Amino acid sequence: MYNAAAPAGGTAAPAPLLSVVIPIYNEQEALPLTVERLRPILDALDVSYEVVGIDDGSTDATPAIMHKIRQDWPQLRIVRFARNSGHQAALTAGIHRAFGQYVVSIDADLQDPPEKIPEMLALAREQNLDIVYGVRGDRNTDTFFKRRTAGGYYWLMRKLVGKKMPAHAGDFRLLSRAAVNALKSLPEHQPVYRLLVPWLGFSSGEVVYDREERVAGSTKYPLSKMIRLALDSITNFSASPLRLATWLGAVSFVICFGLAVYTAIEYAAGATVPGWSSLFIGMLFIGGVQLICMGLLGEYVGRIYSAAQARPAYFVGYDSADELPSAATVPAAHSAR
Ligand code: UDP
Ligand code: MG
Repeated sequence: MYNAAAPAGGTAAPAPLLSVVIPIYNEQEALPLTVERLRPILDALDVSYEVVGIDDGSTDATPAIMHKIRQDWPQLRIVRFARNSGHQAALTAGIHRAFGQYVVSIDADLQDPPEKIPEMLALAREQNLDIVYGVRGDRNTDTFFKRRTAGGYYWLMRKLVGKKMPAHAGDFRLLSRAAVNALKSLPEHQPVYRLLVPWLGFSSGEVVYDREERVAGSTKYPLSKMIRLALDSITNFSASPLRLATWLGAVSFVICFGLAVYTAIEYAAGATVPGWSSLFIGMLFIGGVQLICMGLLGEYVGRIYSAAQARPAYFVGYDSADELPSAATVPAAHSAR
C-alpha cells in the first residue's frame, strides 16, 4: 500500500490537498459542461488539487474528450477501465488511487453542485471532520419514480445501518485521508459506499444541497442497476432476510396445524371436508415460500461464491499519473487490490 504523503515515491511533487473523484460513463454531452463549471471553482480554492476522472469503459466520445480537456488542464488525471464495471467500482478505483489529503466524490452530470465542494472542504478543515456528507435537501428535480424508490431505499438502509446514516446522502461527499485509509483496509468485494462510510462512524458533518437536474445526456442507472445496488446494499449489511425463512416456516406451520385441528373436529362431527382446492392452494403456498427462501439463500451464496473467487472488481487499462516522468521510475505500488 502506498504512502499518501508521497504518492509517487520520494522524488515526486507532494500530495495535493484535494482530490476530486468523478465516475464517468458515456458522458460525452455532460462532461464538457461539468468541467466548465468545476474548474473555476477548484482554481479559485487556491489549494493544490487533482481531479481523478474514472472513465468506466465509456464507448462514446468520452475518452477523446477527456484527453482533450487534459491538454490544458494538467490537474485532470485520467484513469480508464478496460471495460464497464459500474459506478461503485469506479468510486473504489478513485478512492484507492486518489493522492489527496481530502477526497471528494461527485457525479459527472452536475446533479451534485460543485459549488458545494469549497463548503465541504472548509467545514472539514475548520471542525477537523473526517466525513462531510452532501445531503439532498430537495428531490423535486428527480422523477416521481426515482423519488419513491429512493425514499424506500433510504428507509430500509437506515433500518439496517442505524441512525448514523444520514437520509438522502448519496455519493457526493468528502472523506479525509484517515477515512480513505479505513475504507481501503476493508476487504469488501462489492462495496456500497453510501452505507460503508456511515458505518465507519468517523466524525462527520453535513452540507445540504438541492439536487439539480442532469445537465445533459440520460441516466446511466437503469432499473436493473438500481435493483442490483439495493440487493448489494441489503446483503452487505444484514443477514436478516435469511431469518425470514424461519419466520415464514413458523407461520405456515401454525396455519397448517390450525387446519389439521379444524379438519379433525369436522371429521368427528361427521361432516366430510371438501378439500381439493384448499389442498392445492396450501401446496402452492408452501412451494412459493420455499422458492422465495431458496432465492434469498442464493443471493448470499452467490455473494460468498464471488467473494471466494476474489476476482478484482475492475481492471485499470490506463492511468495518466503513471505517465509522469517522476512516476515512471516508481513501481506501480498503488494498484488497487
Ligand atoms: N456511472 C459509472 N458507471 C456506470 C453507471 C454510471 O461510472 O456503470 C457514473 C455516471 O457517469 C455518473 C454517476 O455514475 O457520473 C451517476 O450515474 P447517473 O447520473 O447516470 O445516475 P442517476 O443520477 O441517474 O442515479
Ligand atoms: Mg445522475
